[in-house]
Amino acid sequence: MASVLVTGGMGFIGSHTVISLYENGFDVVIADNLINSKTEVLNRLEQITGKRFKFYKVDCCDKEALRKVFEENEIDSVIHFAGLKAVGESVRMPLEYYSNNINSMLTVVELMNEYKVRKLVFSSSATVYGESEDVPFTEESPLGMCTNPYGWTKWMLEQVLRDCAKAYPDLKVCLLRYFNPVGAHESGLIGEDPKGIPNNLFPYISKVAAGTLEQLTVFGDDYDTPDGTCLRDYIHVCDLADGHVKALNFVATHDDSVSVFNLGTGKGTSVKEAVAAFEKACGHEIKHVFGARRPGDIPVCYASTDKARKELGFEAKRTIEEMCSSCWNWQTKNPDGLPSDS
Ligand code: NAD
Ligand code: UDP
Repeated sequence: MASVLVTGGMGFIGSHTVISLYENGFDVVIADNLINSKTEVLNRLEQITGKRFKFYKVDCCDKEALRKVFEENEIDSVIHFAGLKAVGESVRMPLEYYSNNINSMLTVVELMNEYKVRKLVFSSSATVYGESEDVPFTEESPLGMCTNPYGWTKWMLEQVLRDCAKAYPDLKVCLLRYFNPVGAHESGLIGEDPKGIPNNLFPYISKVAAGTLEQLTVFGDDYDTPDGTCLRDYIHVCDLADGHVKALNFVATHDDSVSVFNLGTGKGTSVKEAVAAFEKACGHEIKHVFGARRPGDIPVCYASTDKARKELGFEAKRTIEEMCSSCWNWQTKNPDGLPSDS
């Protein structure tokens, strides 16, 4: 049976996407080196779907090891999530980020060529729009001026894939630019499981709500926004996962060598609004203080969703309340995250 290879499928977005793919009748093979995920995800996926997915613990930069996956399976398409994603860490460790993110993608495309696999969906990010304040971001908005090495890897890989699609005419690539994925599967069995102290807003709020962290620092309340705090386009990870199924169907039925879609809700939510929504979900106050702006933050970032709606048939359905309640459900069921690999 033809399968979708999901690289990075044990991670936050990848694991939710595996479920959407399964529910939509796709056969899935996962390749992940577990650098930022745990084997337990496989058990959780089995609890949710009743299926034990085929999993290879493999570094996507290791061509010979990854070749085994292509050799042993009839891979029909690839969704490439595998990559490092922590913005601050990428500033401290640029070589690791460029090396891992670029090489893993190059290796995957080389093997796709070798095994005549023609369909690729790539995890890009709204970060490729850089520091522009011209919102909403459409797929035509200017790119570049990224503020960190992580963002540049996405920007570079988009260009690499455009060049590959020109050179290898059968290759069809879909670039998905995610906005801010949050929330968790309704079962509370999988969710975002960051190592150490979280950098992103929702995982941080969850830990404060649970009492593991004392208080949230809101980075800046003097922005030129309605309540002074930054606006972001938070999208439920299960909506985002469904977007990948649409993207796979799109590349299977369209001739475009490269297609690009924003995946967001089209709505900006402020930090204060996010805190209030989470307080409602968990039923108690989230202790927070106002601090200095975080360097590199833009005041407002949200997607134009017109293109994804018209061409992909994608529309995010879940509300900010559902994002918060699913996050809280995941947090309370897994206060210490998933059990580590022994
Ligand atoms: P994640 O860290 O939870 O998942 C990434 C997975 O890839 C992890 O399981 C990790 O172990 C694996 N991995 C990393 N390098 C690998 C390699 N060389 N070989 C094999 N496996 C490797 O991150 P996520 O939030 O699920 O993000 C998935 C993708 O989406 C990433 O490419 C990320 O940059 C992109 N993205 C994420 C966000 C976000 O806010 N979460 C936003 C925009 C784009
Ligand atoms: N944020 C905050 N306190 C935190 C973490 C984040 O006030 O501890 C703010 C951050 O300044 C931004 C928003 O929450 O305005 C979303 O931040 P996140 O890192 O989750 O996403 P990104 O900024 O990468 O879009």
